[in-house]
Amino acid sequence: MSLTVRTRYAPSPTGYIHIGNLRSALYEYLIARVHGGQFVLRIEDTDQERLVEGAVDVIYRTLKICGIKHDEGPDISGPYAPYVQSERKDIYLPYAKELIKKGHAYYCFCSKERLEKLRMECEAEGRTFRYDRHCLGLSEEEVKSRIEAGEPYVIRQKMPDEGTTTFHDAVYGDITVDNKDLEDQILIKSDGYPTYNFANVIDDHLMNITHVVRGSEYLSSTPKYCLLYEAFGWEVPTYVHLPLIVKPDGSKISKRKGDATFEDLINDGYLAEAIVNYLALLGWSPDSNREIFSLAELEKIFSIDRISKSPSVFDMAKLRWFNGEYIRAMTPEAFHEIALPWIKKGLTVDLPTFPIARMIQNRTEVLSEIPQNIKFLNELEDYDLNIYVHKKMKTDLKISLDSLTAAVPVLEALTDWSEESLHEALLNLVAKLGIKNGQLLWPVRTALSGWEVTPGGAIEIAAVLGKDETLRRIRIGIDRLKSSGQV
Ligand code: GLU
Repeated sequence: MSLTVRTRYAPSPTGYIHIGNLRSALYEYLIARVHGGQFVLRIEDTDQERLVEGAVDVIYRTLKICGIKHDEGPDISGPYAPYVQSERKDIYLPYAKELIKKGHAYYCFCSKERLEKLRMECEAEGRTFRYDRHCLGLSEEEVKSRIEAGEPYVIRQKMPDEGTTTFHDAVYGDITVDNKDLEDQILIKSDGYPTYNFANVIDDHLMNITHVVRGSEYLSSTPKYCLLYEAFGWEVPTYVHLPLIVKPDGSKISKRKGDATFEDLINDGYLAEAIVNYLALLGWSPDSNREIFSLAELEKIFSIDRISKSPSVFDMAKLRWFNGEYIRAMTPEAFHEIALPWIKKGLTVDLPTFPIARMIQNRTEVLSEIPQNIKFLNELEDYDLNIYVHKKMKTDLKISLDSLTAAVPVLEALTDWSEESLHEALLNLVAKLGIKNGQLLWPVRTALSGWEVTPGGAIEIAAVLGKDETLRRIRIGIDRLKSSGQV
């Protein structure tokens, strides 16, 4: 009988979701889905000093907008509830005591001050700090009386004195470490809560997790977890450590250094689907060059053996590209809906928003750029007449003046101000004048916007501005060209 694949996303509620953390959630979810297994959400909040209010909601919200649905978790419960570690607090101590009994753990009464002194001594000598096992040899009686006297204590894992520990990682292969290099890490803290290092092992075992998927920063601690599984006589799960995510300059992504969290990206006008698609490829590759994948498609084709171990570069330019692709693929109606708040933010005049959305859809990569890109619709600013001159469009000031002058009566006569009818009227005029399209459309676009680059062409802009404003701006252009003294 093959075991049901069970993965878990085990975030600590810090108040924001780091891009790398979201990628872990995504890969864990995909591995569960691709194997027809279950995906569990577990909140790791045993670090009571670092709790942030509302942080758990950020986690739910993020998973929801990304479409990453958990099968078990604090909000929906499940057969292994509770799924919040602080609510499981009493589960861990008996396991730690079992380890003490078996000789794999011990009580430690060392004070913060003593440890701090030790740390400083190590640093002064240029050694890395490691607990010196001061409390390892305490007799049972001494331990008992000190606990009874109310002395604070922690419980530490006792690492083997010699030998090596080897584990297999599905991405990084076999990894072996010398046991003498492993520190006697804390399992239960003085406040009674387990450390992450202990709780993750206990919970992964109790929740029947088969695949532990997480960032490669946990690789170095994994031998210690393996020793815990071994001490309990439990089966070690399949480890899938994910490559580091770095910036194009090779440095690590960090919120402190101002790098965007998932929420920042959403607030900036990136689409969750585009972010998810990009993250899927940050450390994994399909067996083709294709880059655009929906979550539903990824759920079918994702595979552990195509996860890479070399660092993946998180490139904002590439994310922009993905976002633009997703925006272009939307229906005009759907795009209008998500663009509307941004259009309203940029607009100070009363113009129909649907034609604006249509105009900008193909030229928008990130929604937050919309307000700036449509500013020219509010008012015609002063502009340099030289923007009428365009070599490729074969325009100069004289041609521009002639084209604009010829366009006025044609546009005045137009009763249907739709894009189709504007298109027909202007192209008929081009044919009549015997000029190139650009020789009419470039001057019109320039006169309507006053900008050298616009998120739309002459016809789209005219349709948005309406008849009166279009004619007003064209006449301004004609006047300015005439009075320039250059034509
Ligand atoms: N709570 C840990 C974190 O937020 C989980 C690591 C793991 O997946 O084991 O990074």
